[in-house]
Parts: sequence; structure tokens; C-alpha cells
Amino acid sequence: MHIQDIFAQHRTTFSFEFFPPKTDAAGEELFTTIAALQALQPSFVSVTYGAGGSTRDRTHDLVVRIERETNLTAVSHLTCVCHSRDEMTAILDRYAASGIENVLALGGDPPKNSAHDREKDAFRYANELVEFIRSRPGPNGRGFGVGVAGFPEGHPGCPNRLQEMDHLKRKIDAGADYICTQLFFDNRDLYDFRERCDLAGIKVPIIAGIMPVTTKAGMVRMAELAAGARIPAKLLKAVSRCTDDAAVARVGISWATEQCADLLHNSVRGIHFYTLNKSDATRQIYQNLGVESSVALRAG
Ligand code: FAD
Repeated sequence: MHIQDIFAQHRTTFSFEFFPPKTDAAGEELFTTIAALQALQPSFVSVTYGAGGSTRDRTHDLVVRIERETNLTAVSHLTCVCHSRDEMTAILDRYAASGIENVLALGGDPPKNSAHDREKDAFRYANELVEFIRSRPGPNGRGFGVGVAGFPEGHPGCPNRLQEMDHLKRKIDAGADYICTQLFFDNRDLYDFRERCDLAGIKVPIIAGIMPVTTKAGMVRMAELAAGARIPAKLLKAVSRCTDDAAVARVGISWATEQCADLLHNSVRGIHFYTLNKSDATRQIYQNLGVESSVALRAG
């Protein structure tokens, strides 16, 4: 389903993010996870794109498989880094031919340990990619649904928070339908970001990125990977008291549950769960919220 129709039909959206597995075995395991999460009736799911286009085929194949083998809508992430205009055209035309309607347009980061020259990329910033995607016909002539990234705590690449809002606005003016945020652990950051967007004249839906901490190692890795995400001292303290990962997961899931309950109370337009290809934490959060699926959450 086109993302514009999803937003028109769902007062609050609930979505799950996956990454393309490296092996066939991990791919099958992911489909067990997807089957478990399908019962939660998300509005859509999304599939990440490896740094520098490293998962170009795997992202495509996973998105297409999800749409063919489940009743879920799958959004494909796509990044500017390491792609020429011809490559972008080929990627988008292939999605259109497969009936894929939605893309999350990202700047992306250059692959680690690579001396990639960004001057060679057709698009430097995500707003240029949004504009390009908008110029393509999409699967049925309606054009693709397009999302973009937002950073409640700021993106490290831009030290000026006012300028950063101008950059975000440029992505919306280029035709983005919605913003999906970086994960955050303090809802005040999301509410402040939402207000700053409003002041900047950004009126598209903003969906909030939530990632429950489930292991200490995962928390450290997350702090490394998730640009701009701060872990509040209260959460750090609670995690540091834990003697094993089962306890860390209980703390992390409880924290994420509180975040979700508060976001719903404050009329968030959508919640996006970073699942790390696992279903347990997300299913536990739904259970803690007292519901069996997104349908009950959408009902308010
Ligand atoms: P941009 O919007 O291009 O912004 C990048 C930086 O440049 C920002 O600091 C911005 O303020 C600044 N900027 C923008 N326009 C201008 C301009 N005209 N002049 C000067 N500065 C400018 N990465 C992946 O590799 N694969 C994924 O699948 C992926 N999925 C993601 C999903 C979400 C929801 C989020 C939040 C991030 C994801 N990322 C992914 C990470 C993302 O690619 C990086 O954080 C990247 O550094 C920023 O992407 P962007 O789309 O915000 O880029």
C-alpha cells in the first residue's frame, strides 16, 4: 500500500525495521521473526540499506519477498552514498517493476575503512535523492511514497540546530511524505523536535524511532551506530545494576514500554520499532501495553 494511503487510514502508525541477513539460514530465521511480528498487525515494515549500497540486492530481495509472502507493506531504505544517477534509476525502476511503492530516502554514511570520494555520488544530500525519487513514475504511475530521516537530538554532521531544520525542511519541500526519527530514549527530545518542526513549517507525519536495550553489548554498539542518540544516566544506571542480559532486557523493555505509553498519550503520529531482526522485545512491549495488536493501539 502507498504510504500516503497508510497515513490516511491509520491515525497512529506502528512499524518494524529489519536489516537484510547475510546468510540463507539467517534469512529463514528472519521470516520466523516476521511471522511472529505480523500478528501485531503493523502499518508497514522497513528494510535497511547497507552502507555504500553493500546490500543493494539483499535489500531488494527481502523487500520483494516480504510483499509477496506476507500481507505486509515493505518500505525500502535507499542511500545516496556510492551511487550514480544511472544506478539510482535502475534501482528505482527495478522496485517499480516489482510493485514496491515506498522508499525511505537517506544520505547514508560512506562505508567504514573506505576512501570513497563523495564528489563521485550523483546525490550529496537526501533532499536531492527525494527530488529524484519524486521524478520517477513508481510502480503504477502515482510515484513512490517517500520518507526521510529526522534526528530529535540533532545529527552530528550539523552543529547548527537551526540550519539543520532548514536542511530537514528542504527534504520535505522536495516531496517527502513523512519523517522517521533516529532512536531516542528521552521523549522530551521528540516533543521538542516536533515543536521545532512545526515552527519551521514542517507539517508531515513524524514517526518516533524506539529501540529497547536488550543487552549491554548491544547498548554500546547502538551508541556507536545511532548517530546523535544519548543514553540518559537513569537508564545507564539501571542497566549497570543488572547482573545478566535477561535483567538488561527487562529494564530496556520496561523503559521502552514507558516511552511508548507516554508517546501514545501525547498523540504521536507513529512509532517505529528498531527490531534488530528479533521479535521478543517488540512483542513484550505490546503485552506490557495490554494489547494483542496495533489495531487496539490505533483505536486509542
Ligand atoms: P541528509 O539529510 O543528507 O543529512 C546529512 C547531514 O548533512 C545532516 O547533518 C544534515 O543536517 C546535513 N545537510 C543536509 N543537507 C545539507 C546541505 N544542503 N548543506 C549542508 N549540510 C546539509 N543509513 C544507512 O546506511 N542505511 C540505512 O538503511 C539507514 N536507515 C536509517 C533510518 C533512519 C530512520 C535513520 C534516522 C537513519 C538511517 N540511516 C541509515 C543513517 C543515515 O543514513 C545517517 O545518519 C546519515 O548520516 C544521515 O542521513 P540523512 O538522510 O539524514 O542525510
